[in-house]
Amino acid sequence: MAVESGPWALAPELEVRKQKHLYRKRRLLQSPQGTQVLLDNKFYLAFCSNDYLGLANHPDVVSAFQKAANECGVGGGASHLVNGHHQQHHALEEELAEFTGRDRVLLFSNGYMANIGAVNALLGKGDLVLEDRLNHASLLDAGLLSGARFQRYQHANPTSLHQYLSKPSYDNKRKLVVTDGVFSMDGDVPPLSELAQSCREKEAWLMVDDAHGFGTLGENGGGCVEYFNLGQDDVQVLMGTMGKAFGTSGAFVAGSELLIETLIQKARTYIYTTAMPPAIAAATRVSLKLLQKENWRRERLAELIKQFRSGADQLGYELMDSASPIQPLVIGSEEKAMKLTAWLEEKGVLITAIRPPTVPKGTARLRVTFSADHTSEQVNTLLELLDQARSK
Ligand SMILES: *Cc1c(COP(=O)(O)O)cnc(C)c1O
Repeated sequence: MAVESGPWALAPELEVRKQKHLYRKRRLLQSPQGTQVLLDNKFYLAFCSNDYLGLANHPDVVSAFQKAANECGVGGGASHLVNGHHQQHHALEEELAEFTGRDRVLLFSNGYMANIGAVNALLGKGDLVLEDRLNHASLLDAGLLSGARFQRYQHANPTSLHQYLSKPSYDNKRKLVVTDGVFSMDGDVPPLSELAQSCREKEAWLMVDDAHGFGTLGENGGGCVEYFNLGQDDVQVLMGTMGKAFGTSGAFVAGSELLIETLIQKARTYIYTTAMPPAIAAATRVSLKLLQKENWRRERLAELIKQFRSGADQLGYELMDSASPIQPLVIGSEEKAMKLTAWLEEKGVLITAIRPPTVPKGTARLRVTFSADHTSEQVNTLLELLDQARSK
């Protein structure tokens, strides 16, 4: 007790969070990811995972993982620069380079570390980092940590960006513009071609975190750079994660030979950490193939999204400008969002409420997400419940 008094009084701080409906609780998942999950001993129809293509528990991905674990064990054992750089990692990097149309790719243990590592390898004091104000927390943290002058521009707004880029005090300095490819809590896509144009004029580099675009956007799942047809001279730093549509784990940065060499030398979250288990890389190589060739998964998603949007619109729900599998229903107050979530759970549907500081104050929401494994009957079930909730 004694150590938790004075400056270490943790309990009152937690109590305030509870009062404000901002307290977070973890639930116990007792099944694989899927549209039906077992959570805290109850089955739910789930609309909140990022397993957009339904690959997290795909039999081919699972068996690739098992086979590789038999061949190369489980532990990564050491960092990539000591003796942890396994041929499975290397093969995945080469396949991702081909997939993204970039010179080279570097694997990281996860997306958070990829962002921290890449931004901090490239920028320091005296440089400028410009971030969309709704960027993912890991990008904001990366920019703040770098010691570069940190500036947020208005959401998905090239005019706002251009004003900041035009400040003459940053001529001849490194300027890095950083944005989500698909915004993680809103589901919208920024006007990347215009952002890239601004960057080109002002000799800034553009970094895109496409954690939610790979697998879901573009003809072959190549994400927003495929969708907008942007090469590595337009988006110099392209980041993707494997924990979402790929259904596995880890992340990568793709770009020029010189960029990747720089990251190998300087990215501290690459250097000072153990390589991901090689079997994860092996499983990801299989999920990459499925992601590229099984177009029906993207087509299915598009159908479900269309069905949901027209249904929710008819019910009078406010939808965001999103064509992605992220379809948030903005509720407003934290309390109301929590109530709706709890009511849906009683009815057997799981959609977690997203609250500040993850999203701006007054925009608490139910972040509805879809998977290619959902059926249109399941979407109807959700819509029927939303109808009932509306009239309550
Ligand atoms: C999930 C996410 C990350 C973090 O990736 P992890 O591999 O889960 O650490 C980074 N950026 C965005 C936009 C994300 O949605």
